[in-house]
Amino acid sequence: MTDHGAQTAAGIRSVLETFSHTPKAHVQSFGCQLNFCDGEKYKGILQDLGYELTDTPEEADVILFNACAVRAHAESRVIGRLGALKPIYEKNPRLVVGLCGCMAEEDEVRALLRKSYPFVKLILGAGAMEKLPESLLKVYQGEKRHETLKFAGLPDESLPTVRESGFQASVPVMYGCNNFCTYCIVPYVRGRERSRRPEAIEQEVRSLIGQGYKEILLLGQNVNSYGRGLDEEINFPALLRRLDAIEGDYFIRFMSSHPKDATPELIDTMLQSKHIEHHLHLPVQCGSDRVLREMNRHYTLEKYLETVDYARSQSPDFGFSSDLIVGFPTETDADFEGTMQIIERVKYDNLYTFIYSPRSGTKAAEMPFVSTQAQIAARMERLLKRQREISEAFNGRFLGKQVRFLAEKHDPETGLMLGKTREGLVLEAKGTPEHIGRLLDVRVIGVKNWALTGEML
Ligand code: SAM
Ligand code: SF4
Repeated sequence: MTDHGAQTAAGIRSVLETFSHTPKAHVQSFGCQLNFCDGEKYKGILQDLGYELTDTPEEADVILFNACAVRAHAESRVIGRLGALKPIYEKNPRLVVGLCGCMAEEDEVRALLRKSYPFVKLILGAGAMEKLPESLLKVYQGEKRHETLKFAGLPDESLPTVRESGFQASVPVMYGCNNFCTYCIVPYVRGRERSRRPEAIEQEVRSLIGQGYKEILLLGQNVNSYGRGLDEEINFPALLRRLDAIEGDYFIRFMSSHPKDATPELIDTMLQSKHIEHHLHLPVQCGSDRVLREMNRHYTLEKYLETVDYARSQSPDFGFSSDLIVGFPTETDADFEGTMQIIERVKYDNLYTFIYSPRSGTKAAEMPFVSTQAQIAARMERLLKRQREISEAFNGRFLGKQVRFLAEKHDPETGLMLGKTREGLVLEAKGTPEHIGRLLDVRVIGVKNWALTGEML
């Protein structure tokens, strides 16, 4: 910690000493995995400053909402929940309410908070995590609202983390995005791509495996461009090989892979590894080349399918999942038929589907809609229905086979454990609470549209 950091922490601790109770902090994250991962760091920082973490906002002295800007609907929900904090603030005027993450970077959001939510006193943009102590102290010193935005560096490697799980850990490998897909707000709110040093990532993963973590989820907006801009010559497959060489019993998963940068080297690395999942989350977004061009995605369906076919030629069971946007402004019925065709062709195990949401400042937000919201909703319904049938049929490829899975949850009523296989598929099997957090071998004895059923070996 720098001298300035130590002074700031001391300043906060002297404020907390004036409290007549144990100071408590509540952090709530919304949105993608990367946001949840940032949330674990906010918790670590607050705990280090002397706050006890609480799940109950009513008893907190600091409440941080760490929120996502990707879709408008999720944002409105966060605004609603911020509004619900007003009565808590009125009972405890020393309460510091803060909004952080991508959502805090949006001018319109901050204007709304200034106008209608004066009790939100701390605003911290995505990537400004380490500025939390400084901002908090400013508020305690009487500043009406402290805003820290557009902090584009890499977070300090020594930031403490409070992990939600004792066996699954998220590890960011890079921050930001350079791709400017025309519908997406991420490059505006998370800044340009920057990669963490491979030694720092390796050290973190090694330490997690040493502590007994069984699943390492590597995160980045486009992990396939990992390494650009680093002094050391390294790409994502090389990073994966370096991590896979760590001794231990664990899975490595990662997301997201941009199809324009997915290579046979990536697939070969996955298939030749000991620990990396045999499953790729490869967001196609849409099944029309024209719409993909308008989305600025820089690949064609032909190029996308080359990656899928290469993986399946090397391993027929290789699984894919995808993000799909329905109702991009210029999407017609014919474009949507392309989306229906791509799900038939690829046979995804899982789809994350989104109705297009216009985000101010992005290019697509200026494009007029060619379809009505009713047409878009009907397309979505059709897509979901067909996908359920496809995944159920395709999951059948595992019937009778032996698979490895990480048991994540146990339901005492049914006695069933729920977890994910190395191929990225959800699996349930009879087990006990002691199995949670362990990698187990099972035989697949049944298939549902959303999961496999297994029996322990
Ligand atoms: N970087 C990742 C990639 O390119 O695959 C995705 C990150 S983004 C946070 C997650 C998903 O949200 C995207 O893949 C896209 O499907 C969806 N998304 C992004 N902007 C959206 C928008 N304006 N409306 C609806 N869905 C959107
Ligand atoms: Fe958004 Fe595209 Fe970047 Fe993904 S690659 S974060 S969709 S701009």
